[in-house]
Amino acid sequence: MTGTSTAKSAYLLDMDGVIYRENNLIPGARELIEQFQERDIPFLFLTNNSMPTQEDLVVKLAHLGISGLNPQHFYTSALNTADFLRTVQPSATAFVVGEGGIISALRDASIPHDNMHPTYVIVGEGTPTVEKLNRAHELLEQGARFVVTNPDNWCPVGPDKTRPGAGALAAYLEASTGVRAYFLGKPNPFMYACACQRILANRPDLHRADVFMVGDTMETDIRGAVEYGLRALLVLTGSTRYEDLANYVYQPTAVIPDVLALHEHLRTGKPLEDFAIGAEQTGKGRGNRSSEDRHQKNAPALSYRPRPAMTK
Ligand SMILES: [Mg+2]
Repeated sequence: MTGTSTAKSAYLLDMDGVIYRENNLIPGARELIEQFQERDIPFLFLTNNSMPTQEDLVVKLAHLGISGLNPQHFYTSALNTADFLRTVQPSATAFVVGEGGIISALRDASIPHDNMHPTYVIVGEGTPTVEKLNRAHELLEQGARFVVTNPDNWCPVGPDKTRPGAGALAAYLEASTGVRAYFLGKPNPFMYACACQRILANRPDLHRADVFMVGDTMETDIRGAVEYGLRALLVLTGSTRYEDLANYVYQPTAVIPDVLALHEHLRTGKPLEDFAIGAEQTGKGRGNRSSEDRHQKNAPALSYRPRPAMTK
């Protein structure tokens, strides 16, 4: 497995920390997407946020300055959860603790809402009421199966601010009921299997070996790609510092400073290794960017307060 990426490739892209942070585009994001569109390189945004719908995400990126997208360019953990239930038990009913994205995904999959005897309790991203959590607790006690859209314990909402994620809500209900949750979204290989099916549809010239995952979070983006057998590019514009890489048993195929490096690699045809961080230590790094540029120059400032792992 090498880090070589060419135009004969396809890209799964995480969003927060890769394309934008809060409401700011990360340098190179617009240029990269425009290059994908101009050169007909397949791409799919892959997010663990189960709150927005695909249509919401089209609007969000348009406001940030990336246009020409349609709902099919997005695959969320909410859609992955609906695909999972449709696959394993099409006759299922569900009690949902979550917001627009998961509610609309289940509706599109014809999975009815049920607050009396649901097959599943589904927890997604959001800020549920205590009443909702109490009802979810009761239904799990009665025997409902427990599915969570994504395992993220926390989500960034500002430069110095996070909020509890679906993983934290799941931990609350696991503690109160003793029922173990099953997590969809990244890093579950089912997320990557469904994403590859979508991104490779109508492209018989491309195969799974041509697919790259581009992400900023080791526990979700990179771990899932490695376990599913995809090549993984880590960018340092989000939740991971280069010096933290040594803490992980799995490793990305390459570490690049940001999506601008990927854009330049594809635009110039120079080897990906030329843009990789770590290459300068082995004397191989050349590229056309100074060593200072490799380290998040222009990227929104990050706070490095130690945080709990993104997932268990
Ligand atoms: Mg991210």
